[in-house]
Amino acid sequence: MSTPLVNPIQKRDNYVCQYCGKDGLETLDNWHDSVIDHLTPLKYGGTYDPDNLVTSCHYCNSIKGDRQFASREEAKRYVLKRREELKADYEAVRKAVRG
Ligand SMILES: [Zn+2]
Repeated sequence: MSTPLVNPIQKRDNYVCQYCGKDGLETLDNWHDSVIDHLTPLKYGGTYDPDNLVTSCHYCNSIKGDRQFASREEAKRYVLKRREELKADYEAVRKAVRG
């Protein structure tokens, strides 16, 4: 077997989601969940320059979507706020279904 490729962006970020801190090397599931996010989306002129790329878990990446933010910190604040809101929704659904 050949050695799998190590993505230089994920290596730079130590495979840690730059939004929520999820460790992409902690488990196989986490590794599979680790993706690359474009800070400035391609549709807004973002590029593949390393400065525009960050390691993200799939969940944070889907929350951020193709929104544009003034800075990485602003994007992180948005993602973490939405995670909290979605967590409340999740807990309400879980309680309604499972008691
Ligand atoms: Zn994350």
